[in-house]
Amino acid sequence: MSIDSLPPLREVIDRHDLMAKKSLGQNFLLDLNLTAKIARQAGDLEGKTVIEVGPGPGGLTRALLAQGANVIAIERDERCLAALEEISGHYPGRLRVIAGDALDADFATLAAGDKVKIIANLPYNVGTQLLIGWLLSEPWPPFYESLTLMFQREVAERIVARPGSEAYGRLGVLSGWRTEARITFDVPPQAFTPPPKVTSSVVHLIPRNAPLPCDAATLGRVTQAAFGQRRKMLRQSIKSLGGEGLLVKVGIDPTRRAETLSIEEFVALANAV
Ligand code: SAM
Repeated sequence: MSIDSLPPLREVIDRHDLMAKKSLGQNFLLDLNLTAKIARQAGDLEGKTVIEVGPGPGGLTRALLAQGANVIAIERDERCLAALEEISGHYPGRLRVIAGDALDADFATLAAGDKVKIIANLPYNVGTQLLIGWLLSEPWPPFYESLTLMFQREVAERIVARPGSEAYGRLGVLSGWRTEARITFDVPPQAFTPPPKVTSSVVHLIPRNAPLPCDAATLGRVTQAAFGQRRKMLRQSIKSLGGEGLLVKVGIDPTRRAETLSIEEFVALANAV
């Protein structure tokens, strides 16, 4: 069953000659039932403003629009713009396409005072960088109401990881500190065109209203240093930020390793830097 009366995505891709480019992390979702399922993870979209990164030929964009959202979509590949223009014509005034690199975008300014939802099947090569930018947003609570994002399963596991696990690292600390994050479902490689090598997962993150007080940039620096040398003892890995003296000051054994520290302990460390 189709979610709109626009042509099937395969036809759109053929007509606009949108051969997927690996360099742009292009793995397209052509099943509109699946893109509708991703859109539904973000809750009721009726009348909401959604920012989408990397609409490509527009599979997820169409699902967002069909569910009542107004969409601002940022796409770097100019080849996709004509296809997106067709969707825009089908939903007059509800799709704004911005041609450019999402890494250069000022998302809070795009939101223009609305509490937006960010929903995207992210290009694998910039997904983590974008997420970290959103997690370190200032002021907090941020300009977005939720993030619903597709990542490679391994990255999704790092986002929801807790202390003591292999996957626990900078992403787990930053997302656990400021958001409630969960994996909502997995998507197998065959769902994409072309299929990637690995399974993907949709992650839904909701900002906490009152995370433990801490300077976001400092916490970012502390976690980067600590997990940058995760096999080393903390007195060594965070030496440049204060090392043993700092750890003793906040009551953390300097011989511990980064992956054993709770989010609260990382916050205490950052507050002491
Ligand atoms: N949303 C589409 C879907 O689900 O089928 C496409 C997803 S594909 C994984 C990632 C998309 O992000 C591609 O369309 C690619 O051109 C675009 N992209 C890659 N790097 C980008 C960047 N830095 N800024 C904006 N878009 C980018």
